[in-house]
Amino acid sequence: MNRLIAISNRVQAAHGGENSNRGGLAVALSAALRESNGIWFGWSGEQTDEFTGQISFRREAGVATATIDLEAQDVEEYYNGFANRTLWPLFHYRLDLTEIARDFAGGYARVNDRFAETVAPLIEPDDLIWVHDYHLMPLGQRLRERGFENRLGFFLHTPWPPSSLMVSLPGHRELVQSLLSYDVIGFHTDEWRASFIDYITTHLGADMRGEYAHFAGRMTRLLVCPIGLDSTEFMAAQGTPAARAAEERLITSAVGRQVIVGVDRLDYSKGLQERFLAYEQLLTTRPDLREKLFLLQIAPPSRGDVASYQQIRADLNSLSGGINGEFASIDWVPVRYVNKGYAREELFGIYRASRVGLVTPLRDGMNLVAKEYVAAQDPEDPGVLVLSRFAGASVQLDAALIINPHSSEDMADAIARALSMPLEERKERHAAMLKSVVEEDVRWWSARFIAALTEGEPNEDRPPLALASSQP
Ligand code: UDP
Repeated sequence: MNRLIAISNRVQAAHGGENSNRGGLAVALSAALRESNGIWFGWSGEQTDEFTGQISFRREAGVATATIDLEAQDVEEYYNGFANRTLWPLFHYRLDLTEIARDFAGGYARVNDRFAETVAPLIEPDDLIWVHDYHLMPLGQRLRERGFENRLGFFLHTPWPPSSLMVSLPGHRELVQSLLSYDVIGFHTDEWRASFIDYITTHLGADMRGEYAHFAGRMTRLLVCPIGLDSTEFMAAQGTPAARAAEERLITSAVGRQVIVGVDRLDYSKGLQERFLAYEQLLTTRPDLREKLFLLQIAPPSRGDVASYQQIRADLNSLSGGINGEFASIDWVPVRYVNKGYAREELFGIYRASRVGLVTPLRDGMNLVAKEYVAAQDPEDPGVLVLSRFAGASVQLDAALIINPHSSEDMADAIARALSMPLEERKERHAAMLKSVVEEDVRWWSARFIAALTEGEPNEDRPPLALASSQP
């Protein structure tokens, strides 16, 4: 098998550390790299006074990593700026939060160049190169410009927005065009892929033939390839002391009450305000349920440097305080709102002790928490997943109670239904979802993407490199 070079913004090899708050990518990619004996290249997370391109090599949790430091201006413009304040909100359909600035775009271009320049000496002719996520969209084109003819793949971990939103980004044509330098582009769902096809056919004049986009003499395979869980590793948490302790602690402290659990990075895409409002709606309209349940919301803070994240934190403090103030009694707190992260084994125990898993993002590329909740249930007495139709996970986990997170009434009804669902129905729904979580796991995902990257038909349309970089 060819060596794999994975490139992503951050390199965070996954090992079950205390209070870890790793994104889904870290968990998934470590498993894929260990198996392929590859290298993971990215930013160290450290800043340097002047960019040198010096690479630090390490082995973390069985994965070979190669990292570089960036300058403060790079971090501000590329990471906090274009990635987190422009692309992230835009790709989650939040034009109202999308900040447009030329400095951000300049920093994004500069850092993508720096990545290309620094990773170049590590690349051997037969290596497969797999670039991850919205931080590094132009990287493939930057490598092609440097003469690399390797098979290049790109996976988008977020949604792809509708064309009507995409065109609000200055330089959208060049950015999307640069993606067509890859041989394979992967999306979680057919919906994100269809939005991408709409853009490239409408705005670039690309031509679709089967799964392939043809543009400027090149062809790119557009693959639907939903990321999975490392379900073997995750389910092995069952029975570990950390998982058991977390489960027992939650059950003991619940004193017979039903637990509704949410686990989300503190991010506006996760629909946390809407979730709290729906819970408030439930307590208001179903007084019979009060004191019989509580909501445990785990929400470790993220991107605290960005104003919109400070705002959501303030909003949630106020909403949870308001609900508790209105409904609590001397021995019942309706919302346990926890701003810290938990290790995955503890999460396993927390999910397992919870009768309802609430995963209600307004927009989410996939959402691995939904899959983890399913994987952690006792198949003989499983809890119920209440899942937003706007999470990529809802395509595979269609046996969940699928809700519209914009409707408090819809969500409140679904929670009530979940709480009273008969055992047989719970088991049936859970079995259907567990099958997909186990069969379409992270190994299935990476094998599928790597197979497309390796075995894809030869890029017959590929013109000489000089022509490839002079696209219209
Ligand atoms: N996570 C964790 N500790 C926490 C909260 C979350 O390890 O306290 C992990 C969680 O188990 C999941 C990941 O972070 O694997 C979140 O991935 P998801 O796809 O749900 O959302 P993202 O944060 O990538 O948008």
